[in-house]
Amino acid sequence: MPEIVTTPTIQDAQRPFSGKELASHWGPRTDMILRSSDLVDFHCHRTLLAFGSEAFRDMVDVATPQGEGCEFKDRKAVVPVSESARILHSLLLRLYPATSTDTFQLVHPADLDEIDALFAAADKYNMPQVQEFTMDVLLNSPLIPMDSLRFFLWGLTQDNSALMGKAAYYTLDNVPPQIPALIDPPSVYAECLALLPEFHAHRGGHIAYSVELMGQSLNDSMLGQPDFYPEYLTHDNRTGQDFVWWDWSNDGHADGCGTTWGIQDQSGTEVWPAPWFQKHISRVAQCFRAIPGGLTGREARNVAPADKAAIEACPACARRAEEDLAQFSFQLAAFVDENNMKATNLCWV
Ligand SMILES: [Zn+2]
Repeated sequence: MPEIVTTPTIQDAQRPFSGKELASHWGPRTDMILRSSDLVDFHCHRTLLAFGSEAFRDMVDVATPQGEGCEFKDRKAVVPVSESARILHSLLLRLYPATSTDTFQLVHPADLDEIDALFAAADKYNMPQVQEFTMDVLLNSPLIPMDSLRFFLWGLTQDNSALMGKAAYYTLDNVPPQIPALIDPPSVYAECLALLPEFHAHRGGHIAYSVELMGQSLNDSMLGQPDFYPEYLTHDNRTGQDFVWWDWSNDGHADGCGTTWGIQDQSGTEVWPAPWFQKHISRVAQCFRAIPGGLTGREARNVAPADKAAIEACPACARRAEEDLAQFSFQLAAFVDENNMKATNLCWV
């Protein structure tokens, strides 16, 4: 966004609010002026202002050439507003369809400083479309990883769980989280910091529960719940296809590996889980509980050193471990996706 230079004297805003139409301009000319608190005149179209908000519509009604006590400039009524030129520029751009989306992006840290004032102005003038549009821009901003806690706070104050989730994920990379540069009032910041761990715990608990269900499905208690079994053991939500993510149906395990107890898969084949793999699932679930966003499906393939020894000691496990762990991590990633979506829709406060 171009910088708006402010001086004590009244000056005109930059395009498209300068009041000077381009040679190629073919539409109606500007017919009203909004004067910012720092004395910058924004030449606007009454119809677009009235279209954009009820509050502006009332202003337009008052600022007629017949209106009393109005200042005029270039035969346009001048209406002072309390917003700065920077905020007014940002706000008005959204009323001008041709210039809105390509002139407002959050790519420089300084762009973030106007967001709170923009939300406040949009609220004051009753422009929910501006709030929605700004929320879209926030959600797609490349700045989220750099100032994640601040984005989390915007998600919180605007009641947008999608932004909260996305920002919360990146706070995991910054422990302790980055302190936002401009948070006002400080009590809101304190509230935000207090809620963040709760938010993580909620999501992590949900995902860890699913992971533990996968572990549970390997023991006898699941056999009595056939409806439960296929849903959690064999359905890949990403591909929409069924598969067994850990195939023990092959023979050839070493003594003590996977021979503790047997269960049946969907085809009725007896399968034997390896104890080291059950431990692995428990460990993955614990990681999710502690740092839910910190463990991806790919990382779930990294077994503990003790498990590696167990794998190498068993010919059957040694032969298939890598491929089966890859399947496990892929299935796990599908679980995480699904549960993140579920968690997004949950009321967690
Ligand atoms: Zn084995």
